[in-house]
Amino acid sequence: MSLHCHKVGSDLPPILRSATADLLTRHDPLLLDWVARFGSPLNLVWPDALQDNMAALKTALTEGGVEHAIYYGVKVNKSPGLMQAALSSGAGLDVSSLYELRDARRLGANGARLVATGPAKTGAFHQELIDCNALISVDSPEELEELVVRLPAHASPHPVLLRLRPRDQSKSRFGMPAETIIPCLARIARESRLRFDGLHFHLSGYGWETRLAALNEAAELIAEARAMRLSPRMIDIGGGLPVQYVDQLKYQAHIAAQTPEDYRTGKIPGSFYPYGSALAAPDWLRRLLQAEMGEGRSVATYFRQEQLALAMEPGRALADQAAITVVRVTRVKSLDAGTYVIFVEGSSFSACETWFASEFLLDPILVPAARPLSVSSPIRAYLAGHSCLDEDVLSNRWLTFPVTPQAGDLLVFANTGAYQMDLLENEFHRHPMPVRLCVVGDAKGHPILIPDAIEEV
Ligand SMILES: *Cc1c(COP(=O)(O)O)cnc(C)c1O
Repeated sequence: MSLHCHKVGSDLPPILRSATADLLTRHDPLLLDWVARFGSPLNLVWPDALQDNMAALKTALTEGGVEHAIYYGVKVNKSPGLMQAALSSGAGLDVSSLYELRDARRLGANGARLVATGPAKTGAFHQELIDCNALISVDSPEELEELVVRLPAHASPHPVLLRLRPRDQSKSRFGMPAETIIPCLARIARESRLRFDGLHFHLSGYGWETRLAALNEAAELIAEARAMRLSPRMIDIGGGLPVQYVDQLKYQAHIAAQTPEDYRTGKIPGSFYPYGSALAAPDWLRRLLQAEMGEGRSVATYFRQEQLALAMEPGRALADQAAITVVRVTRVKSLDAGTYVIFVEGSSFSACETWFASEFLLDPILVPAARPLSVSSPIRAYLAGHSCLDEDVLSNRWLTFPVTPQAGDLLVFANTGAYQMDLLENEFHRHPMPVRLCVVGDAKGHPILIPDAIEEV
């Protein structure tokens, strides 16, 4: 059994896939045993969840009859198990550093399965991308020149994208406005060692509508490129596909009912990730494909008629439901006015939105260590980490627990696979780095753990 904790009347229970729900309900002794063996926090990864997410996105694209290339944005999670799952489900990998690139290569990815869309590439990173013939999204004319200098004299043409900065993103430091793209196209057309593969953008925010507007801008530049006798093959729409962490209506009700007193800080954070998205990523993609571009064509029709592939680099949407973070309760301390602080073995880096002055708005799930449960009245508590820093808080939000948690109980943060988990972990106070393991089914379908490590191929 597991108990959700929440603010009475406006709870935010996480949406759980069945494998996770099963572990937390039917196999909770196993979870307690794993934490006893591997310590707290414990990060558990389900690589098959990423494969399911990949299949659902592919289905939406295939229904639309659109050629596509999906690259998993590996920066969302350090797990090699998730990178491996992406490769075996037919995705490529979007690598943003030399180290991500080397991991991808060790997992067997060749250049045709790799793209580098990040804006901050070093010379050494460029060089290894060139050496394996990986697709490079060029962020600026300066980067284009640096790349050209590195290309061997008689090399076969190196594939590049140009990153567009759409008109409504004029404050962004990423990408180039159309007026800068055009001279870059001309430069590429003059350089036999470069091959123009298409345009790329990656927008902040999560609406498909902004991607539609950017696609219209990209389409004009595709036409310009063709007029220069270049042969673009794709438009790459980046990432930012939404994830549904909690029920949309519950989320809206929660946000509407929030008050400063709901937080121990006495302040509502200025912004949150939209945890209660109206659309899951595959439906978001369907909306985009059906939306109308210029000349009365749908996005899907545009891509088909122009013989372009739709490329994308989802990070968060592919890691949806792929991991949980488990922390163990050390102590429940009484504060003033009938409130409590729950200390856990872990830190704000273990579920890290408080460092972005925000909150991970999913109710943690309590897995009690002992049964029968002690009978006690509900308590209100916030969650603090194991460091001496006042700001080391996992939840500034006051949480209501139907029974008082006990030392040794577990608190589970669900769906931490994207930008959470051990992304920002460190060894403060010499606490060792938390263990990260993959959960797979044994021959009987029971959950077992395997190392989350790179098996050399
Ligand atoms: C982070 C990032 C992504 C992935 O974004 P998600 O919101 O996780 O899908 C894709 N492309 C670029 C350029 C990025 O910086």
